[in-house]
Amino acid sequence: MTEHFDYIAIGGGSGGIASANRAASHGAKCAIIEAKYLGGTCVNVGCVPKKAMWYAGQIADAIKYAPDYGIDLQMPELDWAKLVESRQAYISRIHGSYDRVLAKNNVTVIRGFARFVDKNTVEVDGKRYSAPHISIATGGRPLVPNLPGAELGIDSDGFFALQQQPKRVAVVGAGYIAVEIAGVMHALGSQTHLLVRRDKPLRSFDSMLSDTLVELMAKDGPTLHPHTEVIAVEKNADGSLTLQLNGGRSLDVDCLIWAIGRVPATDQLQLENAGVQTDAQGFIPTDDYQNTNVPGIYAVGDNTGRLALTPVAVAAGRRLSERLFNGKADSKLDYNTVPTVVFSHPPIGTIGLSEDEAKAQYGDAAIKVYRSEFAAMYTALTQHRQPTRMKLVCAGPEEKVVGLHVIGFAADEMLQGFGVAIKMGATKADFDNCVAIHPTSAEEFVTMR
Ligand code: FAD
Ligand code: NDP
Repeated sequence: MTEHFDYIAIGGGSGGIASANRAASHGAKCAIIEAKYLGGTCVNVGCVPKKAMWYAGQIADAIKYAPDYGIDLQMPELDWAKLVESRQAYISRIHGSYDRVLAKNNVTVIRGFARFVDKNTVEVDGKRYSAPHISIATGGRPLVPNLPGAELGIDSDGFFALQQQPKRVAVVGAGYIAVEIAGVMHALGSQTHLLVRRDKPLRSFDSMLSDTLVELMAKDGPTLHPHTEVIAVEKNADGSLTLQLNGGRSLDVDCLIWAIGRVPATDQLQLENAGVQTDAQGFIPTDDYQNTNVPGIYAVGDNTGRLALTPVAVAAGRRLSERLFNGKADSKLDYNTVPTVVFSHPPIGTIGLSEDEAKAQYGDAAIKVYRSEFAAMYTALTQHRQPTRMKLVCAGPEEKVVGLHVIGFAADEMLQGFGVAIKMGATKADFDNCVAIHPTSAEEFVTMR
């Protein structure tokens, strides 16, 4: 027997839960199918546990600054097990809140791995479920390279499963995850190495951000190994690992973490039974409205190959449900000028175009760049002075702000409001018209000349 719904979301992560709850709030009979744990990557092995570890790193940093504030603390030994326990207890509370909200909305949660039978039907452990509207919100999984001994390393999922703090860590990769994990491990006292195959991490970000991060890492951060590739990994008798690197070099560590990107979880869905097409990497192409090539089948979130961020998956999923179940035919997500933060040490915030991207898009002559650099006051009182750097990229005679970039203390918490302003089309004059909040770091964005 096939159980029928109005809407099925395959994947109980950010996109699936958000879309099903929204659809249900408009009266649709909804189901979520989840193979592992509700909340998906973000809640279980992504944003949330990462932020918990980052906060621990912030506390460790604060202990370093404390003596100059007259609070002389000795850096205590980190109780890794306690940190993991608190983190996981917090995640359990999020699971509880998902259960409550889904139950309140009458969303059926089906546990198991879904595969397509045809365009309206999926099968989970031998049982069939059908719907005229099915969303594929299956996210992705970490990529591990194909080289001898690669399996001796762990990925970001393995990082969150660590029961003990490794003394010596190598993180391989150059994106958000590599930078964030390496920063956290350094802040928490592990001897940390960041191995990037090119010249620097975060190459696709505005160069002010990536160059400043490299500069700050050299002062107090993981040891950066540019132009470094792992050729092979060997396990030693004492359990440590030897990484054979290009150029005949080697590095001994206790823990190796691959953070070289993620692949979409679309390969085992039997998409061919529904006729859903993917690109060469397995991402599901979608139009502006999250439609796949098959009417009635949609894709949201990381498996679409668009911005892989939780609020993006959530927003795309909610807008899709508004369109399908609330009569809002034009409801769709604008993927431009999405604010994003890298939880590095210090954090990075960025919205819109880098200076190079803006010049390529508008032409050099049409772009005016405003910059600011100062020592964040929080650090300036201490021996650990740290620069904050900001940039506004403005286009055209009206100086519309098309890019905003910051690296420095509290960058993470200063970005959201600027995101609103830029989404509204703010110009430099609008920024200038806003009176500063003093003394803060964010005020520099409205006083640049
Ligand atoms: P997911 O959240 O991955 O959910 C997909 C779900 O589908 C999973 O639960 C999976 O088990 C399930 N599933 C897969 N296949 C099937 C199937 N066939 N049947 C049933 N269930 C299935 N983003 C931010 O915005 N901020 C951050 O700070 C941040 N930090 C991150 C840190 C790390 C370490 C990682 C890995 C990611 C981070 N992200 C962050 C990205 C964010 O986690 C993702 O963009 C977001 O989770 C994507 O949501 P999604 O719904 O597309 O997929
Ligand atoms: P990314 O795609 O962001 O970065 C991976 C990087 O690793 C590549 O850009 C590449 O950089 C490098 N790389 C790729 N292959 C190899 C290889 N074989 N050997 C060495 N290096 C390699 O992936 P992440 O896994 O870091 O993150 C996935 C996504 O998750 C992010 O893009 C982001 O959207 C999201 N995320 C968001 C966070 C946040 O909002 N704070 C935090 C974490 C993740 P290069 O070409 O320069 O070598």
